[in-house]
Amino acid sequence: MAPMRMTRTPGAMQRWAGTWRREGRRIGFVPTMGYLHDGHVSLMHEARRRVGRGGVVVVSIYVNPTQFAPAEDLSRYPRDMKGDRRRCREAGVDMIYAPTDDVMYPGRGEGRYSTYVVEEQLGRGMEGESRPTHFRGVTTVVTKLFNAVLPDVAVFGAKDWQQAAVIRRMTRDLDFPVRVVVAPTQREKDGLAMSSRNAYLGPEERRQATVLHRCIEEARRRVRGSREGVPAEALKGEVAATVSREPLARLDYVEFFDPETLEPRATVGHGSQMALAVFVGRTRLIDNGRV
Ligand code: AMP
Repeated sequence: MAPMRMTRTPGAMQRWAGTWRREGRRIGFVPTMGYLHDGHVSLMHEARRRVGRGGVVVVSIYVNPTQFAPAEDLSRYPRDMKGDRRRCREAGVDMIYAPTDDVMYPGRGEGRYSTYVVEEQLGRGMEGESRPTHFRGVTTVVTKLFNAVLPDVAVFGAKDWQQAAVIRRMTRDLDFPVRVVVAPTQREKDGLAMSSRNAYLGPEERRQATVLHRCIEEARRRVRGSREGVPAEALKGEVAATVSREPLARLDYVEFFDPETLEPRATVGHGSQMALAVFVGRTRLIDNGRV
């Protein structure tokens, strides 16, 4: 097996991708912001399944500044390149693409970076409302990463449901020759969705953080126990009450919607998707599930 490689510029990444493509090898891609956990690793395995042994799996590790608002956690976002390299190597990744801010968003003044990609529908509500510039940063960086890695298949996590929907739409609308795959959310034993941001949580915050998953399970029980569906407003009230019982938790939003179109549902029946964002202390966590 060839050793795992690492590259840091789009030009070098494109040359590798071009070589692999000429050799007829399929390229599977997993974009991440690093501080890798088992959720990320499950995406790497999915990428490998999709491209096979003869294919190539590329993982990008890049904390993308344009998807953070000025008051958000960009500067304290956790990083551990050594640990990330080990996890990638163990998962059989062929290459890490870890560009720097200089090559991704060059310069100030006249020659500075000035192009963005915006999806105008699916990214409006929920995360887009709480974090107005977030998806513009995500679609822009994923476009740049696709253009560097030239993947056949890109794997995203269901943990970020709205993000996956936005990327799928962007890929279709802009004719990227990339198959977008969404893989299931990996959870800790107590139900907390794995996330790099869980590292911010103190012990008591960590206990209370299970409230997101509990809200999803409670809503699911309510919806599955009703024949004609449950009014979304009633379910939202119950979620708010459950979250307010945790002293360190504060609900940012909860929404019930169509899993494909993300259209909000007034009456929530089987097969609706639910997503919520909760601050636990200073840490903002998101989760979602089918109800
Ligand atoms: P991030 O590094 O948080 O930007 O995430 C990179 C990719 O991993 C995204 O496609 C996420 O949806 C996915 N991801 C993050 N957490 C999980 C998880 N717990 N299970 C599955 N995928 C995840």
